[in-house]
Amino acid sequence: MRRALDVAYEMRTVEAVRKDILDAVKPLDPVTLPLMDAWGCVLFEDAIAPYDIPTFASSAMDGFAVRAEDVAAAGESPVILRRVGSAFIGKTPDAQVGPGEAMWIATGAPVPPGADCIAPKEDVTAEPDKVTVNKAFKSGMFVRPPGQDLKEGDVVVPGGKILSGPELGNLSTAGFGAVTVYPKVRVCVVSTGDELVEPGTKPAFGQIPDGNGFTISGNLRELGIAPVRPPIVPDDEDLLRNLFVSRAPEVDVFISSGGMSVGDLDVVKKVVSELGRIDSYKVAMQPGMPQAFGVVEGRTYFGLPGNPVSVFVSFELFIRPALLKMMGRTDLFRPVITASIDEEMEGLPDKTRYSRVFVYSENGAWRARSTGPAASNLLGTVVKANGLAVIPPGDHAVNAGDQVRVQLFRPMEQVQG
Ligand code: AMP
Ligand code: MG
Repeated sequence: MRRALDVAYEMRTVEAVRKDILDAVKPLDPVTLPLMDAWGCVLFEDAIAPYDIPTFASSAMDGFAVRAEDVAAAGESPVILRRVGSAFIGKTPDAQVGPGEAMWIATGAPVPPGADCIAPKEDVTAEPDKVTVNKAFKSGMFVRPPGQDLKEGDVVVPGGKILSGPELGNLSTAGFGAVTVYPKVRVCVVSTGDELVEPGTKPAFGQIPDGNGFTISGNLRELGIAPVRPPIVPDDEDLLRNLFVSRAPEVDVFISSGGMSVGDLDVVKKVVSELGRIDSYKVAMQPGMPQAFGVVEGRTYFGLPGNPVSVFVSFELFIRPALLKMMGRTDLFRPVITASIDEEMEGLPDKTRYSRVFVYSENGAWRARSTGPAASNLLGTVVKANGLAVIPPGDHAVNAGDQVRVQLFRPMEQVQG
C-alpha cells in the first residue's frame, strides 16, 4: 500500500495502477480436483504419460487382420486365405492369425497375434470360411501401433496450460482421474448504494436496479468463476461490515461497486480500512477514475466506482488480469489490434480515454466505429461494442481514418462476425 486513507487523492496512470495490483496478487495454492471439475483451470505441473498411448495395437479399419507376407502377391492376382475367429472391440482376440489365415476385425479392436496388417473390407471378398484379398498390404498398414500418440514418460499436458476439452480428453486417456491445478478464484460481488434495488420490476422514482452486480458477475463467469452475489448493501457501515465478515470465509476476493466518489458517504472505504487496509486513488482514465485496492478480512479487495461503464472498463483493465494471475494464468491481457477509426474522437489532456467501439473488418483491414457518447453511465454503448479504443492522453483529437489501438473484449468470432 502506498498511502493511508487520510491522504488526499492522487492521480495515477493506468499502467502504474495495473503494475501495483499485479505485483500484489499471487497465484492461489494449487489443489487436486477430479478431472471433470478441472475444466478451465491451469495445470500446476507437467502431466506425464504413465504408459504408452494407445496401449495396444488396434485396427484403423473394419476388415481382416492378415500377415503382410501372405498378401504380398495379391498385387498380381487375388490371394485366398482361411477365415479364423473374430477380433472384437474391447475383447482379447480369441485366436492367432497363422500363415494363410485371416481374422475378421472391427475398427478399434486389438490386432490378434500373428497378424501385422489389416485388409479393409472394401478390398476383400469375404465368405463364411474364406477370404479373397484383392490387394497387397505392407506390414503395419491400417494398424495403429501402441505409443503412437504418446510414449510412456512423454508430457501429456504441460504445466501452465489451461485445461479445455482436448487436454481433459488426453489426460483421461492417460489414466488421470484427478489433476493438480490452480483453483478458480472465489469472488464475492458487493453492490452498495441506498438507491439500489433488485431487478425484476420497474424501479420506483429515484431507485436504480443493481446493474453492476450483474455486469461483474457475468464478466466473472467468462473467466470460469461462479460469483457469490449477496443481497444489495445500503450505504450503512454495520451492514457492510457484517457482509465482509460473514462472507470472507467462503471467498478469496471481494469486488465492490459504488461509494468511491469524492464527497460520497465513504462508507465502503471506512469499513474496508477498519477490517484491513485500503489504497484509494484516481486513475488517469475516462471512464472509471476513483478506485481502490486493498485487503478486507484477509481477502483481496477491489473497489470500483458506481457508474456502470466505469465498472466495466475498470474490471477489464485491472481486475480481470489480476484474477487471471491468481488462477495461475500468464496470458493476462486482452488482444490489442490496430484499427482505422471511422470518426473523430476527442482526447483528454491528462487522461487515457477508453472509447467503446465496434470493430469490423473490411477488405482485410480492421476498422472501428464509435458505439456512442463517452459518458460513463451509458452501459448500452458497451452492449453494442466489442472493443475499447485507447485514446492516449494529450490535447488532441483522433481524426477519421487515423489508426488507433483497440483492446478487444469479445471472442474473435463476435468481432469478425
Ligand atoms: P457512487 O459511486 O456510489 O456515487 O455511484 C455513482 C453512480 O453509479 C450513481 O448514479 C449510482 O446510482 C450508480 N450506481 C452505483 N451502483 C450501481 C449499481 N450497482 N448498478 C447500477 N448503477 C449503480
Ligand atoms: Mg453510492
